[in-house]
Formats: sequence, C-alpha cells, structure tokens
Amino acid sequence: CRIDYQAAPDLLRDRVILVTGAGDGIGKVAAMSFARHGATVVLLGRTTSKLEKVYDEILAEGAPKPAIIPLNLEGATLKDYHDMAEALDKEFGRLDGILHNASLLGRITPFVQYNPELWEQVMQVNINGPIWMTQALIPVLEKSADASVVFTSSSVGRKGRAYWGAYSVSKFATEGFVELLADELEHLGTVRVNSLNPGGTRTAMRKSAYPGEDPLLLRTPEDIMPTYLWLMGPDSQGHSGEKFDAQPPKPSSGA
Ligand code: NDP
Repeated sequence: CRIDYQAAPDLLRDRVILVTGAGDGIGKVAAMSFARHGATVVLLGRTTSKLEKVYDEILAEGAPKPAIIPLNLEGATLKDYHDMAEALDKEFGRLDGILHNASLLGRITPFVQYNPELWEQVMQVNINGPIWMTQALIPVLEKSADASVVFTSSSVGRKGRAYWGAYSVSKFATEGFVELLADELEHLGTVRVNSLNPGGTRTAMRKSAYPGEDPLLLRTPEDIMPTYLWLMGPDSQGHSGEKFDAQPPKPSSGA
C-alpha cells in the first residue's frame, strides 16, 4: 500500500494509458488522475455518454487530449480487441499502461442459487474479456520502454467468501493470470504486470454490494489514487507479479 505516495506532477508525461471502465467509479477517477499527471488516456467503457463526459472534464482541466473506445466487454470479440490494438498502434505507436478496472459484481447470493448465465456474464466481463484484450495488446505494450499492466482484484480474490460467487472466482483467476503473465513477460524487462485491490471504496458497485453501509465511512476513489499512480508510473519499476493494496488493511474487507 502506497497511500502516502506523492506523485510528481509530470509522473506520467508522454505515457499512453488505457483505462477500462473509465466512465464511472474508480476508473473514472483513475483516468482523470493519470491525465492530470500528464498521460494521454484511452477511455474504454460500455456507456459512451459517460466516457464523453470524462473526456470533456479532462480537456477542461487542460490535460492531454484523451481518446475514447466504446466497448462492452460482455459482447466484445477477438476482432474488436485486435482492431483496438491496431488503432492504438496507428495513433500512438505504443501503449505504456493498462488499468484493467471494469468489472461486474453479479449477485451476492448462495452458490446453490447462482444463475449460470449470470455466472458466465461476470466471468466474461471480469476475466475472459481482459485476458483476450491483453493478448491483443501485448505487441503494442512491447513497443513501450516502460509499460505497466495493472489488474484490479479484490479481497474476495485473495480469500474466498460465502455468497460472492462468480465475482470472487473471477478475481482469483485475475490473481493467477497476473502471476503467469508477469512470469512470461519477465524476459522482456519492460512490461510489468501486477494486481491491485482498491479496498472498500465509495462507488456504485460498493453500494450495491453493501446497501446498508454508510458510504461516508469509506475512502473515496480520490483517496486511493496514490497507489494507482505509483503502480502506473516509473517509481514501481522492478515490481512484477506482485499483489498490492490501495488501502492499509482493515478488520472489515472490501468488495
Ligand atoms: P463501478 O461499478 O462504480 O464502475 C465500474 C465501471 O466498469 C463502470 O464504468 C462500468 O460501466 C464499467 N463496466 C462494467 N461492465 C462493463 C462492461 N461489460 N464493459 C465495459 N465496461 C464495463 O465499480 P468500482 O469503481 O467500484 O470498481 C472498479 C474496480 O474495482 C472493479 O474491478 C471492482 O471489482 C474493483 N473493486 C472495487 C471495490 C469497491 O469497494 N468499490 C472493492 C474491491 C474491488 P458503466 O458506467 O457503463 O456501468
């Protein structure tokens, strides 16, 4: 956890960073924060109007002009991912970072009642989509001198918990994929891959997982940005295949 990390104002200058689920919640704040620190951000998400709003906010702050990729990870195909890689290569010639952040919670329900279609849907958005997107983007990541790939995990991706169903399993799979990909790309020396657990954070997803909780007791997405910035920028060079937390440990754990 790097909650006290102070990011240099130009930490991400000249970096091209893709953020999935950039229209809302943690992804939106991360995209804005990366842009504020000099990055050209590529905003990917399923609701174009939300992405356009983030785009406008970034421009209004005078940060580098972002790009938008409207894509629903649920229906996305290998061709979509390859088209995306080609477009990024053409426009920027490289990719310096990915924040895999988009996720679906699915339902918090006893496993015996879990709907198989919903299970598939959650696995598609949370793990299968990000995996094939990453496969398509590896050649553009390899063109960067210092690329950071961050997968968003959860406390239920590190210790199983009753009723968390496909969400929990998708996050365990995320942790496993981070380990194997980090190991496979180690020889390049220029692409690191890590997992990050934001911890309980004030967003719509957290609200739907814990409807009775007072959101004011939670840290905001802005509060947890130091670790996001540290992982995306050069100060985390040399770290790969590791698990990070954006908040100090608490007795009660996050979504
Ligand atoms: P939100 O639900 O607030 O935001 C998720 C974002 O992902 C939204 O912008 C959403 O788009 C997008 N998204 C969802 N499904 C798809 C899809 N099929 N295709 C493309 N984009 C999609 O979640 P959080 O900000 O809370 O969570 C961000 C990440 O942090 C997730 O990976 C989550 O698992 C993780 N996390 C969050 C915790 C918390 O307490 N908030 C705790 C632990 C982990 P749209 O806006 O259009 O719905």
